Amino acid sequence: MLIDLSDIGTKQGKEADVKCELGFDSFSYGGGEFLIAQKQPVSLKISNAGNKKVLIEGKMKIKINIPCDRCLQEVVTVFDLDFSRKIDMKDTDEDRIENLDEMNYMTGSELDVEQLIRNEIMVNWPMKVLCSEDCKGICRNCGTNLNQKACNCNKAELDPRMAVIWDVFNDNKEV
Ligand SMILES: [Zn+2]
Ligand SMILES: [Zn+2]
Repeated sequence: MLIDLSDIGTKQGKEADVKCELGFDSFSYGGGEFLIAQKQPVSLKISNAGNKKVLIEGKMKIKINIPCDRCLQEVVTVFDLDFSRKIDMKDTDEDRIENLDEMNYMTGSELDVEQLIRNEIMVNWPMKVLCSEDCKGICRNCGTNLNQKACNCNKAELDPRMAVIWDVFNDNKEV
């Protein structure tokens, strides 16, 4: 959805409340494609901030399915977005590039709401997603999900020289 901000930008004291639905059902991040489990409409409050500046305040709750880092089972991850952006309407697209402002959601005086939300989701993307703190992960030998059942693999089956390396590897493993 595109919103033209020029009217609000030029009129002192002017403000508007905007609600809009997001048009995308999945989200691309880091080479993966993640399904959106649930989304609420975006609520934006757009107001004139004086001197041809526009303040955008937004709130949105969105749930995205992200696989657990250890066992790959999908985890419904909640993004509680709450953001504000100030846009100087005096800036042209060229100015924005020159100032190195990452305003890929602005073209001229038009605000691209979906692009703005995409940015916010990216900024809030969790470093690590776990289905539970004590997720046992999957066996790297047979691929069994160790949360569901134990497998029969054990270190004894491996070459003893490898087992030493394996131990070192396990000790250094990020938990
Ligand atoms: Zn897990
Ligand atoms: Zn196994």
